[in-house]
Parts: sequence; structure tokens; C-alpha cells
Amino acid sequence: MSDCIFCKIRDKEIPADIVFEDDKCVAFRDANPAAPVHILVIPRQHISVISEISDTSQDVVGHIYRVIAELAGNLGIAESGYRVVANCNSDGGQTVFHIHFHLLGGRQLGWPPV
Ligand code: 5GP
Ligand code: ZN
Repeated sequence: MSDCIFCKIRDKEIPADIVFEDDKCVAFRDANPAAPVHILVIPRQHISVISEISDTSQDVVGHIYRVIAELAGNLGIAESGYRVVANCNSDGGQTVFHIHFHLLGGRQLGWPPV
């Protein structure tokens, strides 16, 4: 996707504070953090919305959760706790249409999300 901002971050065409990457995903700090720790983890493959995850792309989601658990440990929030959020489409509040998983932590998070 040539006009996708997260594909451009993946390809290092625009700068981001990348904290981890491997052959399946890239993790970087959110430009507008909502918590002391706010990381976005994206699959390398461009998938626009959760509802487009397919039989062939579903495995990356499990991989991303493993990466998130490891990052949470490395960032010191595994014990205190954290939240993983994936927004989908308008009501879900999705603004960037390359699926991503927010890792939020470092403060007490409210529930339910408003
Ligand atoms: P969404 O609302 O789609 O679930 O989340 C998109 C997130 O991407 C937002 O938290 C927003 O701050 C973040 N974001 C948008 N553009 C950029 C960018 O260019 N760089 C980084 N690092 N984060 C971005
Ligand atoms: Zn993309």
C-alpha cells in the first residue's frame, strides 16, 4: 500500500521509534502516547482491518501477542499490567488502516473505554 503511513514506517520511509522488528512484525512507539508506555505492533504484511485477516495471515496475530508479552516484560510493565487494544473501523476508533495492536501500560487504565 503506497499511501499507508504504517507501511512507510515499516519501510523506514518515515521515521519512528522502532523498539522491535522481525520477519513478521514491527513495533514502534505511538507518536501521540496515551500512556507512559504506548507501543504499536503491526504485521509487516499490509492488512487494512481486522475483518480482513485471512486463513493465510491469521498466524501473525498469535506471533504479535507473543512479541507484545516479551516487550511488556522488557519495558517493565508485565507485573504492573497492561492492555492490548486493536480498534476496527469507525465505531472502534480506527484511524490508520493497517492493522495494529496498541500496547498500553505504565499507569492505571480506566474501564470501560469511552
Ligand atoms: P488507531 O486509532 O487507528 O487505533 O490508532 C492509530 C495510532 O497511530 C494512534 O494512536 C496515533 O497516535 C498513531 N499514529 C498515527 N500516525 C502515526 C505516525 O506517523 N507515527 C507513529 N509513531 N504513530 C502514529
Ligand atoms: Zn500498510
